[in-house]
Amino acid sequence: MSDVEKFEKYTKSLGISEIAYTTIDEEHTTDEMYPNTIVALIKMDDELLGVTPDMSLKQKYKELYVVITDIMTKMCDFIEDMGYHTYMIDQLDMSMNFSIIAQKAIMGYIGNNKLLITDSIGPGHKIILITTDMPVNTTPTKNDIKKRVRSTCSKCYMCVKNCPDHALHIKNGEIYFDKKKCIGYTHGCTYCITVCPFQKIAENKAKT
Ligand code: SF4
Ligand code: SF4
Repeated sequence: MSDVEKFEKYTKSLGISEIAYTTIDEEHTTDEMYPNTIVALIKMDDELLGVTPDMSLKQKYKELYVVITDIMTKMCDFIEDMGYHTYMIDQLDMSMNFSIIAQKAIMGYIGNNKLLITDSIGPGHKIILITTDMPVNTTPTKNDIKKRVRSTCSKCYMCVKNCPDHALHIKNGEIYFDKKKCIGYTHGCTYCITVCPFQKIAENKAKT
């Protein structure tokens, strides 16, 4: 078994749903980073999805941040024990668009809700980024998710219609996201995930 295969097997035991590899564009890299980027997706807990947004959920999001950081640390330790180097990108690093990097790895495609939508977990996930010098294959596998997301989004708009305070809104025919108005982190709002048909498809798939 190769080192990458060993690593991927280990990540399954940590609850990682999907993993892919890519590179981060030069303009976003820093000296601490390594050339390859591991993109891993963790399915969001059902208890955070479909609940009414409330300030009390902020604590649950803080706890999730701690859990994700612990998983990232374990992934890095595993890689370093095999003799390579790693650098984790902080979940709260606002200079990085995690969804765009995952989209570059063709794990999914960004929908009108501005979230990465994948076949197996829809938009209901958190993205982990770790850079490493472990040799990995950064050539993306073929996937027609882009076509399917674009086609569904062009007729749906459920995320925009259900977004409180119009954080997602339409202007001149384009969809915009106003981060300042989004209550996702402070109030645990997940409407733009739960109303998405791709989320429902992924949930149904998981049940069968
Ligand atoms: S809710 Fe509809 S419009 Fe929004 S991302 Fe999902 S498919 Fe696209
Ligand atoms: S998390 Fe809530 S407020 Fe933020 S974009 Fe999604 S629906 Fe809108």
